[in-house]
Amino acid sequence: MKNTTALRTWLDEMNLSHPLVIAGPCSAETEEQVLKIAHELKDSDVNYYRAGIWKPRTRPGMFEGVGEIGLRWLKKVKEETGMKTCTEVANAAHVKLAVDNDVDLLWIGARSTVSPFIMQEIADALQGTDKIVLVKNPVNPDLALWLGGIERLYTAGIKNLGAIHRGFSTYEKSKYRNIPEWQLAIEFQHKFPDLPLICDPSHITGNRNMIFDVSQTALDLNFDGLMIETHIDPDNAWSDAAQQVTPTRLKQIMEDLKIRKETETDTKFKDSLENLRAQINVIDDQLIDMLGKRMKVADQIGQLKKEKNVAVLQSKRWNEILGNMVLEGEQRGLSEEFILRMFKAIHQESINHQEKIING
Ligand code: PEP
Ligand code: MN
Repeated sequence: MKNTTALRTWLDEMNLSHPLVIAGPCSAETEEQVLKIAHELKDSDVNYYRAGIWKPRTRPGMFEGVGEIGLRWLKKVKEETGMKTCTEVANAAHVKLAVDNDVDLLWIGARSTVSPFIMQEIADALQGTDKIVLVKNPVNPDLALWLGGIERLYTAGIKNLGAIHRGFSTYEKSKYRNIPEWQLAIEFQHKFPDLPLICDPSHITGNRNMIFDVSQTALDLNFDGLMIETHIDPDNAWSDAAQQVTPTRLKQIMEDLKIRKETETDTKFKDSLENLRAQINVIDDQLIDMLGKRMKVADQIGQLKKEKNVAVLQSKRWNEILGNMVLEGEQRGLSEEFILRMFKAIHQESINHQEKIING
């Protein structure tokens, strides 16, 4: 993609004094529900009212969205509250219906971004419209696939673009519904600094009690906005009940979030920051150095195992090490999740080194 500065014009033109806010229920359920939530969000920071009309569900037989009729309810939201509206589209028919019914912003869901066929179909259907289109990351942590999807839209002439970070699916158990992999989002920003990036803490956490913290992290990382699922009766929502917040809670979250300035001109601040960053650089160098040394020891172990024909993986010893490291980490304020992920990665590298020696 060239000349990407044009991509954020739609957001800059809104001239917001706060991050972009998209809120509303996971799914449109009834006309009454859609309008009630909208009226409660009317005089808040919310810029776009969201509601899923067609719902991608993991298993058949679950509530799959109200369909076309919900678009009429969104029209009413606009007429009665003045809020702009948005919904998810997953094929050409959805695009046509959403455009015909004046939906202002469309987003593409995580299960659609994984498929280049679907992305191309949506891009073709959108040709000639000036809709704002936000592309959620694919369910798997594949930056190229995410960018490829956005590029298909750009090539089809859609220039009002943005991305939504909604976390990534993993087999491993974690406290998140979809782990954030913040590094990937940071890399995304480096590659396309002009592409607006919105965080969806609802689908990252799957848990309404974690929405605030993840939102704050996103703002600290200079995200441009937030999409937060909001429902008048979250516990009885027809989809994603555990992660939705009430309109009252949403307003509180908005009030409590600290919006950090991207840069600060004060020189004393700059000096201190520079200094702390230098310290981080030194420590990172030491970490790399230590890891290199650790792998040299692993190589020696590989040599020994080769001579005695012993298996590389010694599960019992490994579980003991992990247990100890979690305890050690705890005393230094490091989360169990971090320790497990870090040591699993180190262990894998160690196994790779040993395999090379044994089979080499
Ligand atoms: C949604 O926003 O309701 C949704 C289905 O999200 P995702 O595509 O991120 O799963
Ligand atoms: Mn949802």
